[in-house]
Amino acid sequence: MIDETFIFHGIFAVMWLEYLWESYLTYRQHQVYKTVDAVPPELADNINEETFQKSRAYALDKSYFSMVKGLYSITLSSAMVWFYLQFHFWEYSKQLLRSMSLPMNELLISCTFMIVTNSINMVVHMPLSVYTTFVLEEKHGFNKQTVGFFIKDQIKSFLVTSVIMVPLTAMAIYIIQIGGDYFFVYLWGFAMIVLLFLMTIYPDYIAPIFDKYTPLPEGELRSNIENLAQELKFPLYKLYLVEGSKRSVHSNAYFYGFFKNKRIVLFDTLLKDKSKDDDKGCENDEILAVLSHEFGHWQYNHVAKNILITQVNLFFQFFAFGFLFKYPVLYHAFNFHHEQPIIIGLIIILQFVFSPYHTITSFFMTMLSRKFEFQADFYAKSLGKAAYLKKALIKLHKDNLSFPVYDWLYSSWNHSHPPILERLEALKKDD
Ligand SMILES: [Zn+2]
Repeated sequence: MIDETFIFHGIFAVMWLEYLWESYLTYRQHQVYKTVDAVPPELADNINEETFQKSRAYALDKSYFSMVKGLYSITLSSAMVWFYLQFHFWEYSKQLLRSMSLPMNELLISCTFMIVTNSINMVVHMPLSVYTTFVLEEKHGFNKQTVGFFIKDQIKSFLVTSVIMVPLTAMAIYIIQIGGDYFFVYLWGFAMIVLLFLMTIYPDYIAPIFDKYTPLPEGELRSNIENLAQELKFPLYKLYLVEGSKRSVHSNAYFYGFFKNKRIVLFDTLLKDKSKDDDKGCENDEILAVLSHEFGHWQYNHVAKNILITQVNLFFQFFAFGFLFKYPVLYHAFNFHHEQPIIIGLIIILQFVFSPYHTITSFFMTMLSRKFEFQADFYAKSLGKAAYLKKALIKLHKDNLSFPVYDWLYSSWNHSHPPILERLEALKKDD
């Protein structure tokens, strides 16, 4: 019963079902943007009519564009499967190697295949990135990238992904080749080491390739943050400011690092720009409230919990892959009749066959993340920062021109952070 035609059609059915579901949610939210045309009473004191209408126009534009994007990407994915593009790219990679008189082994073909598909991916997604940055974000005053910065950024990210992804995937293929029946255990161990390694080197070696990180200058804010960290026994090692404003003016803050080496990064857009006379950015007390929220994530071990879930999830996927990747019908469905390259098996199984599994797990992860956000807010509140956090949330919301009202179904599916009204409501409770 489960033959290649069944798999071929099944993959299509799942792809389109997911697309229709997401489109339905986008449509629901689109109706909200269209019909809600007044500031919600909870925000009436802080957000004026003009800002609200601006945020509504921005939301509508983004919503239209996300429909176009959805249609574009489902068309591309359908074409990928329908025209056996993976198979053609694979054959093309062999040809490339042949033309350069390089040896013809699976590892080398796989590496070439990855570079070929990455390049094509970058090219087909380019129009979307260009439109997002230079039309959509530009129109609403968020884009701070010049054409030169954008091009450099794209090239850098292509090179960095290739330099990291190609050898790692080659390693994984090699482990599967030589690992025997229990290769999934070794593969899992390898994935864990890679993840921890990347998390360690990312902030110091990779992130600075893209943005400029400088120590937060001495002053009131810095000593306030250091004092708060000390009070809470947060092992603050370094305090950085990142030039987010080169990229866009959407603002944020986060912390990272293991054990005693925690670093905090503040986006310069979170801070008030003293040279400009606008009401953007937060006061020191508000920034401290935002950081108290971040300290909450640390206090409740949210990062460690997420790593643990990721690892369990990976183990399950590799284990299932260990069974499935030997079935020839899976490869036949993608027109591979004479060989079963491991990298193609990885794509077919992890990307296509597991697609419904990814959808469900990512929904649960979204739910969990919202729970974590509420916990972190609650922590900030327990430090007596509720009032400042509320102010900061509203300000950031305003600076980002976020739309405040969401369809519940759309929101529970898409938002890893609860919408502002829910957060304000939760902060208000038993005040
Ligand atoms: Zn958070």
